[in-house]
Formats: sequence, structure tokens, C-alpha cells
Amino acid sequence: MVRLNEIRAGEVAVDLPPATDAGLIFIGTIRTPWTDRLACPRQGRLDGPVCRLEIAAPFAPALAGLEQYREVEVLYWLDRSRRDLVLQSPRHDGSLRGAFSLRSPVRPNPIGTARARLVGIAGATVLVQGLDCLDGTPLIDLKPDRCAFTPLAPPQPGDFETGPAETGPT
Ligand code: SAM
Repeated sequence: MVRLNEIRAGEVAVDLPPATDAGLIFIGTIRTPWTDRLACPRQGRLDGPVCRLEIAAPFAPALAGLEQYREVEVLYWLDRSRRDLVLQSPRHDGSLRGAFSLRSPVRPNPIGTARARLVGIAGATVLVQGLDCLDGTPLIDLKPDRCAFTPLAPPQPGDFETGPAETGPT
């Protein structure tokens, strides 16, 4: 898989169920310097190139207030990925890992996420650093970074619920 949609030794593809409409609406388009998957960063960096999130006109008012955050979470649709490989060989050496134990773009729902530095907002364009996607990648969502965001709405009972101490993965 992964880099150019090839299948490598040992990798396992599955028949995907028919896609259903989960109601996703792309809110814009991401403009980056990368047009080649082999040149794209594997993970963005906060001091990486400035990229543009071009927000579609109907959603531009949804940017109000975002300017007060230094970091944002960007969710995007890795639209050129294959989606059927459950076992993958990222090192290309025959060793296999499950798709859910990787941040590979190849997954049943190819959602990418990045924590990005907010450089500025000009009209309906948001400038950020920290992305790792191809030019033209559809934008799914944009949120303040969770560490910096305090809910504005009053708390709910679930906010105070705790569970047993985690033992963590073995
Ligand atoms: N940061 C995100 C994450 O962790 O969810 C994405 C990480 S993924 C490893 C980044 C890689 O996805 C890039 O190096 C590139 O090979 C690939 N990629 C980027 N944009 C893509 C797109 N629009 N469609 C398919 N693959 C893409």
C-alpha cells in the first residue's frame, strides 16, 4: 500500500461494504506546496510551510472567534487513498501492522488530522503551518486545539463522571 496505492508483500486488502452517505460536507479546500505523495511530509510540523485553508463561502462566518487561538485542529479527507488494506507493511519489509495501529492515510475512512499553528485569517482563508496533505485535499473541519479550548457552554453531568483506573495496554 500506502504511498502509491500498491499492495506490498503480506499486506491484506478486504472487500469494502458499499459506501453509505455519512453526511460529510467538505467545508473547503486545502492548498499546500505538495502535489506528489512521495514528496509530502509523513507528518506535518509546526514550523513547516504555510498552507492555506480556503473555506467555502457559506461557511466563512463559522470562522468568527477562531483568531484567538494559536493552534487549531485540522481534519481532512485523504481523498486519493485506497481504503481496503487492513494489514499494512509501512516499512516495506514484510512486517505487518493493522491499519488502526498506524496513522497511515490508507484506512476505511481516510480522515487525516493535524495540530496546526494558526498563522492568520484573511477573509475566508486561514493560514496554518503543520499540514502534511496534497494540494487540493478536501477540508472536513477546523476546531480550536483541545488543550487551549475551555467549553463555553455549562458543564453536563458526564463531565464529572470517572471510571476505574486505567491499566493501559499490555
Ligand atoms: N497527519 C495526518 C494524520 O496523522 O492523520 C495524516 C498523516 S498521513 C501519514 C500523511 C501522508 O498521507 C502524506 O505523507 C501523503 O503520503 C498522504 N496524503 C496526503 N494527502 C493525501 C491525499 N489527499 N490523498 C491520499 N493520500 C494523501
